[in-house]
Amino acid sequence: MAEMFYDDDADLSIIQGRKVAVIGYGSQGHAHALNLRDSGVDVRVGLAEGSKSIAKAEAEGLTVRTVGDAVKEADLVVILTPDQVQRSVYANDIQPNLKDGAALLFGHGFNIRFGYIKPEANADVLMVAPKGPGHIVRREFADGRGVPVLLAVEQDASGAAWDLAKSYAKAIGGLRAGGIRTTFTEETETDLFGEQAVLCGGASQLVMYGFETLVEAGYQPEVAYFECLHELKLIVDLMIEGGIAKQRWSVSDTAEYGDYVSGPRVIDPSVKENMKAVLGDIQNGAFAKRFIDDQDAGAPEFKALREKGAQHPIEATGRELRKLMAWVKQTDSDYTEGSAA
Ligand code: NDP
Ligand code: MG
Ligand code: MG
Repeated sequence: MAEMFYDDDADLSIIQGRKVAVIGYGSQGHAHALNLRDSGVDVRVGLAEGSKSIAKAEAEGLTVRTVGDAVKEADLVVILTPDQVQRSVYANDIQPNLKDGAALLFGHGFNIRFGYIKPEANADVLMVAPKGPGHIVRREFADGRGVPVLLAVEQDASGAAWDLAKSYAKAIGGLRAGGIRTTFTEETETDLFGEQAVLCGGASQLVMYGFETLVEAGYQPEVAYFECLHELKLIVDLMIEGGIAKQRWSVSDTAEYGDYVSGPRVIDPSVKENMKAVLGDIQNGAFAKRFIDDQDAGAPEFKALREKGAQHPIEATGRELRKLMAWVKQTDSDYTEGSAA
């Protein structure tokens, strides 16, 4: 059984006694900064000059500094810029300004696991990785709940790195839901695999193929949208509540029988072989290299794929339908305008 931590296992006063710099104010950055502040922690946000995020952080009453100035003041530096820029932000603005013995904290292990950042030996290197999107990390905290977190320590120079990691996790609300002890390697490899094979890549492709199959067979796109995309949430909610078994219990016997006979036909054993190949490319660094090399070249592959995805007919159908669904929060402008804060 994994080692779990809850609120009673952590001492909030440890993080309350540190000066914390949160670098980046996007999806995770805004959630960490606001949750820390509401937990009584002395927090400042570090952003590049001219950053679009400055106004958002200041509107919340947070102190904003340049990355270098925020780091100079801090006992704990929380690196929450996008993974692909962390290496250059660390080299240019963090490492030269880091107080001797200041700790580093990550929300995902990518740059440590693949060697893009190599911290000094005298720094504690921690991870508190929420297992959910930043906006939910903030919303759950504000509602008195939390999103589960993974905790890891890569370097324990002070001998007290675990106590600091647990204290931080408590301050952002993660230990209300529970923290699991892991390593940077396990978190990074499982996180990349989960998002590629199941949560983002797998689910998106499954939804698109389902939609395409129905539309190409002559069914109405609106009906296909409801069947293959909208209802997915209802099914996933049941899985979260009671596993796959509760989903099968709640649907009709017809749907349950179809699940057993057609599920393995659609997702056949070759899919598992493909998943193993994807995991292999994560473990051997090929995925990380492809992502970072493309980003370093100005992200031509990434931008082309994003554009192609946006052109899929399911998106146009969904945009029109969501306007008619009063109960679905209208957020289309949020994600067509760039940064996720
Ligand atoms: P975002 O893309 O949301 O971060 C954007 C923020 O970073 C903006 O404030 C942006 O400023 C700032 N930024 C970008 N470049 C720089 C720079 N060169 N110097 C200073 N600030 C910069 O990141 P995420 O929150 O998605 O990811 C942050 C970390 O958290 C990653 O390690 C990720 O893997 C991890 N993570 C993310 C999750 C999520 O829910 N998104 C879930 C779990 C972990 P500007 O406004 O100027 O663009
Ligand atoms: Mg991830
Ligand atoms: Mg149905």
